[in-house]
Amino acid sequence: MSDNDCIFCKIIKGEIPCFKIYETDKIFCFLDIGPVNKGHALVIPKEHYENLWALPDDLGKEIFKACKTVGKAIVEATKADGLNVIMNNNKAAGQLVFHAHFHLIPRFDNDGHEHWKQQEYPNMDEPAGLAEKISSLIA
Ligand code: AMP
Ligand code: ZN
Repeated sequence: MSDNDCIFCKIIKGEIPCFKIYETDKIFCFLDIGPVNKGHALVIPKEHYENLWALPDDLGKEIFKACKTVGKAIVEATKADGLNVIMNNNKAAGQLVFHAHFHLIPRFDNDGHEHWKQQEYPNMDEPAGLAEKISSLIA
């Protein structure tokens, strides 16, 4: 399954060049061309799935394994102090390429990248109600 208009499908087919790191029969991994820090890489399924919810569960296991294996090598190669594993799902969450992918971002002490601003719940009825609502929607 491939999408003719998808830039990551084109990379997998070799129609667009990339800096490849690793592949299996189902997974492909290459350097992000606009790295947050040098060594930032992307782990993607070879088949085109739009986002987290479109990904088959058994593929998730392979992706998770690749994130661990490649992530370890990135940390070693870049002498990073840490690693972010991030997936953006849908435009509101910052997804720009609609072929599911996991970012592996090497992090360094004091590298200047800040985390999201957090907030507080003004009263605890709200998180209690939200947790209950979310829980009730899980089949
Ligand atoms: P996202 O915002 O999660 O959809 O991330 C898409 C990522 O793909 C961005 O970090 C881009 O820098 C990266 N990207 C886009 N085109 C290419 C490309 N041709 N080769 C490598 N990385 C790319
Ligand atoms: Zn694709």
